[in-house]
Amino acid sequence: MKIICIGLNYIDHLKEMGSKMLENPVFFMKPDTALLRNNQPFFYPDFTKELHYELELVLRIHKVGRSIAEKYASKYYNEIGIGIDFTARDIQRQCKDKGLPWEIAKAFDYSAPISSCFIPLAEFNNLQDINFRLDINGKTVQQGNSRDLIFGFNRLVSYVSQFLTLKIGDLIFTGTPAGVGQVKIGDNLKAYIGNELLMDFEIK
Ligand code: MG
Repeated sequence: MKIICIGLNYIDHLKEMGSKMLENPVFFMKPDTALLRNNQPFFYPDFTKELHYELELVLRIHKVGRSIAEKYASKYYNEIGIGIDFTARDIQRQCKDKGLPWEIAKAFDYSAPISSCFIPLAEFNNLQDINFRLDINGKTVQQGNSRDLIFGFNRLVSYVSQFLTLKIGDLIFTGTPAGVGQVKIGDNLKAYIGNELLMDFEIK
């Protein structure tokens, strides 16, 4: 399976990163070794001093497809979970400054904690109104709503599939809202969709 991550997909986050609006979605990838499941602790890597959380809604693909038209895209994912796109911001900045790819800042081991539980689409009243949030040590640090996505779920699935064949079990991280920030050793992270606690783990 593969993990596809969308960048710059919420206006407020775009502003906090000093980026401009894009004509098309932008994506990068993480390998399957980036996954961290079952609320396992995350061990702070020694190559960064500025590890950021990015809380994101995650689509799970359940049908093989390529060059999917946007109007059919909703048939290709059936569940939504929550995940964190951990980013070594200091390393990413160094890579960007040099015009280099920034995989080492994004694709490292366990950089993609995800919820064990994914919610079937049928359980949502409205896919364009999904609240989600991240609490660190009991304080809400990031919250978002799918209504604020620049490129919606169907557009993302359609766009990515123009380049990559989507396969069963692939995950699409749909981008983070504003409020990204640092974690430190000892932090407890709790991620919610609506009021449902889906992920709860420690930084060690
Ligand atoms: Mg992200």
